[in-house]
Amino acid sequence: MTCIFCQIVAGDIPAHKIYENHHAIAFLDINPVNPGHTLIVPKEHHEIFLETPPEVLYDIMDAALRIAPVVVEAVGADGFNLDLNNGEAAGQVIFHTHFHLMPRFANDGLRPWPHKSYGPGEAEGLAEKIREGLEKS
Ligand code: 5GP
Ligand code: ZN
Repeated sequence: MTCIFCQIVAGDIPAHKIYENHHAIAFLDINPVNPGHTLIVPKEHHEIFLETPPEVLYDIMDAALRIAPVVVEAVGADGFNLDLNNGEAAGQVIFHTHFHLMPRFANDGLRPWPHKSYGPGEAEGLAEKIREGLEKS
């Protein structure tokens, strides 16, 4: 069975589509965080961000650049979040890569990211570990 976003791309189930380019399509989220919440997805099925080819991500970002100011204007928002959940632990429910473009209002009360602190030397060690990992990758 094809995934729900593949079915939307194919037009087999309805969605409020607002934009498409060569590799990407954008439609309104069925349960918006705020009105205008848009999902930008690849037309072809890729389960997660890390498996999505760069040229496809380019079209998704190009779509985001095009869509974001128009959506913000349409709903009178003050800003927006562009978010991607990669993997179940990150909150990904639909395993077809998608970016969330979420209009934000100054007083919408959403506080998505509580911040933590690093212990002494922790950030330094972690940055070094990541740099080493990148050298090997
Ligand atoms: P995730 O948690 O996987 O990052 O986000 C999945 C998003 O897809 C959710 O925000 C959810 O509201 C949206 N969604 C789920 N099913 C449908 C659907 O059938 N149509 C539309 N337009 N959005 C959907
Ligand atoms: Zn799919």
